[in-house]
Amino acid sequence: MQTVLAIDDVPANLKLLGEILGPAYRFLCSTSAQAGFEIAVAQRPDVILLDVVMPEVDGYEICRQLKAQQQTEQIPVIFITSLKDETDETRGLDIGAIDYITKPFCPAIVRARIRNHLELKRYRDLLEAMSMTDGLTGVANRRHFEQFLDREWRSAIRRQAPMSLVLMDIDHFKLYNDHYGHLEGDECLRAVAQALQGGARRASELVARYGGEEFACVLPETSLESAKGLAGQQREAVLALERPHARSTWGFVTVSMGVASVVPSLGQEPGDLIRQADEHLYVAKKNGRNQVNG
Ligand code: GH3
Ligand code: MG
Ligand code: MG
Repeated sequence: MQTVLAIDDVPANLKLLGEILGPAYRFLCSTSAQAGFEIAVAQRPDVILLDVVMPEVDGYEICRQLKAQQQTEQIPVIFITSLKDETDETRGLDIGAIDYITKPFCPAIVRARIRNHLELKRYRDLLEAMSMTDGLTGVANRRHFEQFLDREWRSAIRRQAPMSLVLMDIDHFKLYNDHYGHLEGDECLRAVAQALQGGARRASELVARYGGEEFACVLPETSLESAKGLAGQQREAVLALERPHARSTWGFVTVSMGVASVVPSLGQEPGDLIRQADEHLYVAKKNGRNQVNG
């Protein structure tokens, strides 16, 4: 169910909006601009209906703050106000509002407009999710991985915290395809991705498909030792699938893993961490596969 947040200092206006929208949406509201802003950050509604004239802070200022904050910048804001001037409306749209509705309003029109904006929001969210997800395995894709790594990298520089990266590669996957066929190979990729995902313990960790049969796990605020421990669990989770691999030494599908860790500083790049993890992955392969090196 999509969520609508209304911020207006007059309780009667909120009540009316709640009634207009009816039970089709989750309706949150606040008579305080500041509290409303905090609800927006915490709850990330799908649309925000914002009054302009309010006692503490005006709606334009709140809209500006919403557009300046990463968690809320994408949320459509609709001004609902008694200011009818063209310059007021232009100002509202200029600072990033998607629509501007003047009071007194016709309930049916307001309902229809909000419904249209929510429909667009739904498609945008779907598109965004699809552009970040690997179609075959359902885990994050390479683009998502790169964005996430960049963001966590900058955050680790600011906090001078360690971050770790695990690169994983399915062992003898070419032989698996040759033996079982490409479709079965695809099934195997799905199963391995789910096992790796299941091994990620914190919401802050990201498991992604890095390439063909290669996966990556980004571990913010994680030391090398902890990262190696987690990688070991993920390696075991893949082995525990007991997915037959007739042409592998182990008889089952296995993965090799390279782990690297860094407290990044300015002048270093995420690519350095990737390179190091890749070198360790190469060693894990050379030393016999189905193991973690770091
Ligand atoms: P190693 O143990 O050294 O990693 O050997 P490997 O055979 O796994 O490595 P190699 O890089 O030689 O082969 C990777 C194979 O992964 C080749 C390619 O056909 C297969 N592959 C890549 N993407 C997909 C995919 O989406 N589906 C399937 N079924 N196979 C894929
Ligand atoms: Mg490979
Ligand atoms: Mg491989």
